[in-house]
Amino acid sequence: MKYKISQRAASLSPSLTLAIDSKAKQMKAEGQDVVGFGAGEPDFDTPQHIKDAAAKALADGFTKYTPASGIPELRQAIADKHKRENGLTYKPSQIIVSCGGKHSCYNVIMATCEPGDEVIIPAPYWLSYPEMVKLAGATPVILETTDKTEFKLAPERLRAAITPRTRLFILNSPNNPTGSVYTPDEIKALGDVCVEKGILIMSDEIYEHLLYDGAIHKSVASFSHAHCEHTIIVHGFAKGWSMTGWRLGWCAAPEPIAKAIDAIQSHSTSNPTSFAQKGAVAALTGPQDHLPKWLAEFSRRRGYAWKKLNSIPGISCVNAKGAFYLFPNIAGTGLKSTEFCARLLEAEKVAAVPGIAFGADDYLRVSYATNMANIEKGLDRIDKFVRSLAK
Ligand SMILES: *Cc1c(COP(=O)(O)O)cnc(C)c1O
Repeated sequence: MKYKISQRAASLSPSLTLAIDSKAKQMKAEGQDVVGFGAGEPDFDTPQHIKDAAAKALADGFTKYTPASGIPELRQAIADKHKRENGLTYKPSQIIVSCGGKHSCYNVIMATCEPGDEVIIPAPYWLSYPEMVKLAGATPVILETTDKTEFKLAPERLRAAITPRTRLFILNSPNNPTGSVYTPDEIKALGDVCVEKGILIMSDEIYEHLLYDGAIHKSVASFSHAHCEHTIIVHGFAKGWSMTGWRLGWCAAPEPIAKAIDAIQSHSTSNPTSFAQKGAVAALTGPQDHLPKWLAEFSRRRGYAWKKLNSIPGISCVNAKGAFYLFPNIAGTGLKSTEFCARLLEAEKVAAVPGIAFGADDYLRVSYATNMANIEKGLDRIDKFVRSLAK
C-alpha cells in the first residue's frame, strides 16, 4: 500500500530534541548512567491544593463536557489574574482555555494566518513556532539574534523585516530556549513598532513567573489600549504551577480573534479536561507560596551552572534572567551543536539539546530543571568532554 501524506504534514521538520531524548532514554533503559539536561518542565510536583481540587471535582462527578472554551469560573479567574498582575482588562469571553500553551499557540496561528502571510519569529525560537506557521500555510521569517545582545531583537530589525505580507510577530519573554528576559522598555519598543505598522503580536508569556535577579515581566499588551488591541497573550499552567501533564493553557485575545479561536477549538479538541480545569481554578485563586521556594532553588542551580559553564574553555554563557534554561555558546569548541550533542552523549552520557533545534547552531540548551547533584555531575562531564576535544 502506498500512502499519500499531505503536503502539510510532509513539510514538517522532525523534532531533533526528541531524537536525542529517545537515544538518552534508550541508554538509560539499558542501565547506563545518563545525565539529562533536556527537561522542558519543572522537576517540582504540582502543589497539593491544586491536585486536591481536581481530585474533588473528579470525586464529585465533574466529568462531562464543559463549554469548549472552558468553564466560566476558570475564564473569570484568568481574567482576574490579568487584571491583578498585568493591569489588563479582559472580559471572560476574551479568554479561551485550551489543552496547553502549545495548543493555544496553534489556535492563535490557525485563527490569524493563511497562505501568503509572513510571520516574524526571532531566533533562537521555541521549536514549534515555525512548524505551526507552516501548518497554517504561512511563511516563517526568522530573525537571528546572538548572545552579544542577550538574544534580544532590536526594534529597528523588526521594523526592517515587516512587509505588506507580515501578519504576526511572535514574542516570547521570558524565553525558551535562552532564558532571556526583555526589559519593559525593550518590550514597549517592539510593541510600538507593531502598533505603528498594524501587525498582530502573539506574546507567549508562559514563563512570566520564573524570573531572577530582580527581572521584571511586563506584558506587551499592557502599555496602552492600542498595544492590547494588537496583542494575543498565550499563557498556561505548565511552568508556573508545574502542571505540564495536565494539558491546560489559555489565550487572551481581542474579541473577534477569541471568537475565531473558540470556533476552531469547538471543531477540534472541544473543551480541555473538565476536572483539570477545577484544579486550574485552585492554581489561580489559591496560595502562590510554592513560587518563592521554586525560584530560590532554580536560581541557586542557575548560578552554579552559569559559573561552571563559563569555566570550561571554548564555552561562554550569558546569564539568563528567566525560565529554567541556559544557552551556552559552544563555537569555541570547534563543533556545531548536533555533532557536539551526539558526541557528548556517546562519550560522556550527557544529554543536552542542540541549539540547531531552536535555529542557533553554535549553542546548546541546558535545562536546570533537574537536581543539583545531576547538574554538578553533568557539567563535570561536559568539562571533561570539551577538554578532550582540545587534545
Ligand atoms: C512549555 C512551553 C509552552 C506551553 O507548554 P504546554 O505544556 O503546552 O502548556 C509554550 N511556550 C513555550 C515557549 C514553552 O516553553
